[in-house]
Amino acid sequence: MSTTRERTDDAMLHPEMRAGADPDAIIRGGRRLDHAEGTSKPLRPAPELQPRGAKVRGNRPIDQQEAAARFIAATEHEKMHDERLWDLRQKRDREMHGISEWEELRSLASAIKEHTLTHLDEYLDQFEAKARSNGIHVHWARDAAEHNQIVHGILRDHGATSLIKSKSMLTEECGFRHYMASVGIEVIETDLGERIQQLDNEDPSHVVVPAVHKLRTDVAEVFSHTIGTDPGNTDVHYLAEAQREATRPLILKADAGMTGANFVVAETGTFVVCTNEGNADLSANVPKLHIASIGIEKIIPRLEHLAVFVRLLSRSALGSPMTQYTSHFRGPRAGGEMHVVLVDNGRSERLGLEEFWTSLKCIRCGACMNTCPVYRRSGGLSYGATYSGPIGLIIDPTFNARKYSNLPFASSLNGSCTNVCPVKINIHEQIYAWRRVLVKQHEVPLVKKAAMKAAGVLLSQPTAYRAAIASADTALAHLPRFVIYNGLNAWGKHREVPHPPKQTFHSWYHANRGAKL
Ligand code: SF4
Repeated sequence: MSTTRERTDDAMLHPEMRAGADPDAIIRGGRRLDHAEGTSKPLRPAPELQPRGAKVRGNRPIDQQEAAARFIAATEHEKMHDERLWDLRQKRDREMHGISEWEELRSLASAIKEHTLTHLDEYLDQFEAKARSNGIHVHWARDAAEHNQIVHGILRDHGATSLIKSKSMLTEECGFRHYMASVGIEVIETDLGERIQQLDNEDPSHVVVPAVHKLRTDVAEVFSHTIGTDPGNTDVHYLAEAQREATRPLILKADAGMTGANFVVAETGTFVVCTNEGNADLSANVPKLHIASIGIEKIIPRLEHLAVFVRLLSRSALGSPMTQYTSHFRGPRAGGEMHVVLVDNGRSERLGLEEFWTSLKCIRCGACMNTCPVYRRSGGLSYGATYSGPIGLIIDPTFNARKYSNLPFASSLNGSCTNVCPVKINIHEQIYAWRRVLVKQHEVPLVKKAAMKAAGVLLSQPTAYRAAIASADTALAHLPRFVIYNGLNAWGKHREVPHPPKQTFHSWYHANRGAKL
């Protein structure tokens, strides 16, 4: 029985310090020692280390499977990632159900994009003429290198040595930050998630939520060694505020600002940037020089078309009716200068690919990623490419078929991505089409090719197939567990094979219906 003194001591302790609730507590002389007095075991377990992305080695094929296995093995990360993205998918569904004309909107958006892409040259010319008349300098970049050089040239002409920028997948595609570092220009990301990734020297893992694969403890760790926060404080408000305090002075003294664009309107020569943090507006409005890097597929013909896309974008991306900021840029402000760099970087070539050109309709909402069971459980960085998830599987091979040859196989082809895509891209069909193309181009590893060939032979011979199924069932029912679940069976590390049925459907049908299948 405890004494009054012991009960009072215990009541005064923080709940986590009460010995009764903690099997790891160290008790000496009837008193619980605090961590500093204890011998070895910390009161809180060390946070799980963040799994890193795929190893990228030049032109060698990315091993997505290997990186995915590491992500899955980090169980806290995998669980959080899966749940966070599934939550976005559910919110998207709720928003969709609130709009009775949702399917009509998707069809309309798809048709507008289809029309624009098939008249791309005309609309780009129209935009250029209108934008110039609005006082915008328009540049054309054939590829990533040209884009980076053009932007560098503009900055050099203005004597700019620092640049603040909002999130842009196009600049990721162009390796922009690395290039700018090589020419001595400081780039500061203003989107919180993107800034976390920049400070951690990692690429974004998602097109909308770049640091979605990180736990709070990961962010606390990154901030502690980059901006000097308390590594033990994982409070989101504390971390966000600390980052804001550290970055604001850099924003205020930057020489130039850069944004991307979600949509470009041909008839008005304007462009539109959608964000939830207002950071694009800071990037565009604080410095006098504003540069916008825009992929040529972002164009739409008229302002009235914008409403269709704005209604779809945020609902599909985050399950919210609107982004907090939908900013229209028409021309430079008084005393300022505005440049638009229209970037091709393989888009014209993709437009000529019969089976894959509709991937250019993509508005980068990320809905296909949020719904994809492979993406949710493997993390965006496992793809080792700028674009991950289902949209990445069909875009990445257009940049480098050899390097990204494994990616189209990272899909169960369940079609959920196609079902949620707001511009109705037939994503899962394109994934399947890429597999055929890559096999034809001999870009598929020999082991995978041999396995597929053997499966093809087996599936084309019903008798051999039935015999194989029967032997597999017998083996599963009778073999000792260690024969099935061992180090050689990577599949079985995270799954249980279902118990084999007593009878196959074929044998049941034969016995009960007496007919041959
Ligand atoms: S492919 Fe469709 S769902 Fe995926 S990011 Fe693009 S627009 Fe969104």
